[in-house]
Amino acid sequence: MMDELRELYQEVILDHGKNPRNFRDVEDATGHAHGKNPLCGDQLVVYLKVGQGNVIQDVSFVGKGCAISVASASMMTELVMGKTVEQAHALFERFHQMCTGEGEAIDDADVDPDDLEKLTVLSGVRAFPVRVKCATLAWHTLNAAIEGKEESSSE
Ligand code: ZN
Repeated sequence: MMDELRELYQEVILDHGKNPRNFRDVEDATGHAHGKNPLCGDQLVVYLKVGQGNVIQDVSFVGKGCAISVASASMMTELVMGKTVEQAHALFERFHQMCTGEGEAIDDADVDPDDLEKLTVLSGVRAFPVRVKCATLAWHTLNAAIEGKEESSSE
């Protein structure tokens, strides 16, 4: 059973890694940021367009990196599209906890359990600190783009 689960997870990661969603730029972006993870060589740019009500109307990424970093970025764009900036922050908070095992698990009304469930495919990185940086790079970069910083490093 565990092996089957691991294989399923592997498949999801490979799928997103090979066919990343929203792999493009956003022409009328309201923000963007560069993210890099020197430990692995991952480099990406996250674009986003935040509109009325702090809603993320469009989000995308370009760049190159390992399967984990690309898959994580791809999943992130799908998950935060249409959400508010606050909801995106809350989801990242929970995802980060999932990856590192740090911090207190909070019951956050802003977080959809289904979204969190989708991200569990990446939680296997917990055993590998370098991979945690790969998995969270896109999210750190999204935060930087939201905050108007141009660069983000996962170091
Ligand atoms: Zn990586």
